[in-house]
Amino acid sequence: MPAMPSTLHDTFARTISYLRVSLTGQCNLRCLYCRPLGGAGLPSQEEVLSYEQVLRVVRVAVGLGVEKVRLTGGEPLLRPGVVGFVRELARIPGLVEVRLTTNGVLLAEMAAELYQAGIRKLNISLDSLQRQRFAEITGHDLFERVWAGIEASRRLGFSPIKLNAVAMAGVNDDELVEFARLTLSTPLNVRFIEFMPVGQAGAGQGSRYLPVSVIRERIEAALGELTPVKSAKLDGPARVFTLAGAKGSVGFISPLSEHFCATCNRLRLTAAGRLRSCLLTDQETDLAAALRAGCDDQAIAAIIRQTIRDKPQGHTLAAGQRLGSCHGEMSRIGG
Ligand code: SAM
Repeated sequence: MPAMPSTLHDTFARTISYLRVSLTGQCNLRCLYCRPLGGAGLPSQEEVLSYEQVLRVVRVAVGLGVEKVRLTGGEPLLRPGVVGFVRELARIPGLVEVRLTTNGVLLAEMAAELYQAGIRKLNISLDSLQRQRFAEITGHDLFERVWAGIEASRRLGFSPIKLNAVAMAGVNDDELVEFARLTLSTPLNVRFIEFMPVGQAGAGQGSRYLPVSVIRERIEAALGELTPVKSAKLDGPARVFTLAGAKGSVGFISPLSEHFCATCNRLRLTAAGRLRSCLLTDQETDLAAALRAGCDDQAIAAIIRQTIRDKPQGHTLAAGQRLGSCHGEMSRIGG
């Protein structure tokens, strides 16, 4: 008789099937809401889990019921040897999907080998379509390189390609309609993410927060009605829509105004090997220490199960509770 597939449940009956793996805390951009503090707070090269250790943790997690892994960071494409690692990851039996979140700076040169290694689904973070503004937000004049990376990925056949834009009042909110307009002529999936005022970079920037209801209203006022699209099983928390006749889609991710904690299926592994069950709650388990102590796979499985059992019912950074329980840096946690 074939073995029954495993499933991981937390104490609130949520099924955990999605692991986000941060490969590095380093980044080649310094976004104004997510500045890695060049060294301080970031794991050193020795502290970062080795690829072998990450593969081992993923194998155990897949054995327990994880089906989807997303590579993130920092900027995951900065880590030497990442393509070989992706090739090994994509071969793990039972792992249904390997996805990548990148700022796109290195994509033009790496997209072909990433495709060959097994990645098909890309999230590319892009907060402005204007070269000068991109430089102001990220600290680097690299818009054209990112755009070349998006075009190279389209030519190679990555699908879907999601463009993730953090919507910020007074920063890029005059471009919301332009982002949505892109989906009329190209098969890109633009997704607007509510700005989360967390970590040292985000603290004190609460006035930049823009709820998705406002973003949606502005897009519909300019471009017409957004029609809901049904999402697939392994899709993320975005609520997805299309404009009439569009080739792509428009999605909204609202961690604050309409949080999706009740259906959260995520577990996170930081580059330094800490397991975290909620993006916006500073509660982590030190898996790296157990790995260094020579633990076996059963012990890894026990740590994963315990972290999931301790997953909070929801985060406290809901609208109106700005301080919440998250002081961690996104560049360390992986977003
Ligand atoms: N370097 C990669 C990238 O740029 O996509 C991966 C890491 S980055 C931390 C992952 C995502 O988190 C990006 O889409 C980024 O915009 C988002 N992010 C970081 N800080 C955020 C914040 N304070 N609020 C909302 N999104 C944030």
